[in-house]
Amino acid sequence: MSVVALYPGSFDPLTNGHVSIIERGLRIFDEIVVGIAVNIQKQPLFTLEERVAMIEAAFPNESRLKIESFQGLLVDYARQRGCKVVLRGLRAVSDFEYELQMANMNRKLDAGIETMFMMTEESNFYVSSRLVKEVAAFGGRVTGLVPDHVEAALIKRFTHT
Ligand code: ADP
Repeated sequence: MSVVALYPGSFDPLTNGHVSIIERGLRIFDEIVVGIAVNIQKQPLFTLEERVAMIEAAFPNESRLKIESFQGLLVDYARQRGCKVVLRGLRAVSDFEYELQMANMNRKLDAGIETMFMMTEESNFYVSSRLVKEVAAFGGRVTGLVPDHVEAALIKRFTHT
């Protein structure tokens, strides 16, 4: 039986923290579905299409990785995609409370779906999409925190607006 994991998030934009979770996840799971959550309340920096393309470019020829978007309840999407596992990354203790709440709520909604956590790598533990955007917006260098093509897209976005 193959195990398909759903890795949900905003990925606005993809960081090396996300890349590490995907790479390590692919060593454990047969397939990973990256589910980009469409949040109508949040105005993203990059469009859905741009975010999909960034993840695709970071994992060329990786047939075990699917990049999609979803709206609505996570558990509904996971069930529909045949994912028994929801994969999440954990950084600082500050992530823990929110993640614990979400994991418990999702278990209540569907006990057949298990949330699994991977600890961040040391080098990525302070890396978040939000911080990367803030630094890039003020012209700071984000080299090494995001893939090169994401850094180029950030520079382009902030020098053209
Ligand atoms: P969200 O909008 O749900 O926070 P993100 O796109 O920021 O989504 O993150 C998606 C997932 O990736 C979350 O589980 C988050 O904890 C994890 N993640 C983000 N950055 C890192 C990092 N630097 N190291 C490990 N996991 C991370």
